[in-house]
Amino acid sequence: MSSFEEFGLHRRVVQAIHDMGFEEPSPIQQACIPTVMQGVDVIGQAQTGTGKTAAFGIPLVDRVTPDHHVQAIVLTPTRELAIQVAGEIRKIAKYKRVRSLPIYGGQSIGHQIRALKQGVQIVIGTPGRVLDHIRRGTLRLSQVTTVVLDEADEMLDMGFIEDIESILRETPETRQTLLFSATFPTEVKRLSGRYMRDPQHVTVNRGEVTVPRIDQICYKVLERNKLESLCRIVDSEEVQLGIIFCRTKRGVDELVEALMARGYMADGLHGDLSQAQRDRVMRRFRKSEIELLVATDVAARGLDVDDVTHVINYDIPQDPESYVHRIGRTGRAGKHGLAITLVTPREFKLLKQIERETKVSMVLREVPSLEDVAER
Ligand code: ADP
Ligand code: MG
Repeated sequence: MSSFEEFGLHRRVVQAIHDMGFEEPSPIQQACIPTVMQGVDVIGQAQTGTGKTAAFGIPLVDRVTPDHHVQAIVLTPTRELAIQVAGEIRKIAKYKRVRSLPIYGGQSIGHQIRALKQGVQIVIGTPGRVLDHIRRGTLRLSQVTTVVLDEADEMLDMGFIEDIESILRETPETRQTLLFSATFPTEVKRLSGRYMRDPQHVTVNRGEVTVPRIDQICYKVLERNKLESLCRIVDSEEVQLGIIFCRTKRGVDELVEALMARGYMADGLHGDLSQAQRDRVMRRFRKSEIELLVATDVAARGLDVDDVTHVINYDIPQDPESYVHRIGRTGRAGKHGLAITLVTPREFKLLKQIERETKVSMVLREVPSLEDVAER
């Protein structure tokens, strides 16, 4: 199967997909869309950037009826991701009379309650806020036919298991449950075993996917001149739109300040910012008003920004899974991306571990000298 027409989707959905510029289904979509349309439970496992959102978003939108009750709920680990998934679903639903709504913490609950009252068919939310609405009686899930757990591994990592279970208990047992995850650790297996019925596993592994093309390199740096090294790398690599990862919120703030002082257009994203601040930063980054987005892991989970040219690990990630998630922010949808990791001598062991588990061996480079940077 090689075209969206062949799935037997509603004409209006096919038209909207066409408008989005999707020419053919990605491998995970090819495998998932017909299976989800059959109504069975599905576990979709594929790397980030392979199009999992549309893999569930397309059949969801196709199925939704104009009836004014919540028919599908998508749970995501972060606010940013809820907004992003809602945006994609809205595009797919462009020609259908479907209301979808992202609900997440940090935004006025009154606003969400009013929007819910108008009749929403697809809710996309973070577990905490969804549960909050259920408890207030402002969100009823008794007529939900499909539940999607997006980035299930991330949600469990973030400690949402109890909230997820409480939400699932509010939905009919006859529901269809879809679970998407980049990795499949024990906790995710346990969740699927408990709440899914004979799930179909759809795994698209490395070899077959149109894998995002991400080159991975490392630079040897010294702790005391890490900032200077970063600036030289940013200049010599010609970073246009980059995400820089730091380990701590304070590290993010400090690096943003240091980069701005040197004339870079930088801003930060971390959990201590208000929702309005986070939205503003993301809008500016999407419009390329910011060239360097400095973020913590949590803040950047699942973010999908087109055209991110570089991901830079200013602080090396503490484990290989986090490394895979971080670099997945670039090279989206088959575009070319570059992942750069700064490594201090004491972090070589961590680097080796990442290389072992991700099965890549990285090129270790020396930071360009000032002359090298000036020559370009
Ligand atoms: P994942 O959830 O697997 O990390 P996303 O669903 O966020 O990936 O998709 C990554 C990017 O690829 C998005 O920008 C999305 O719009 C784009 N995309 C998805 N499916 C297709 C397709 N069939 N053709 C072209 N681009 C696509
Ligand atoms: Mg996703």
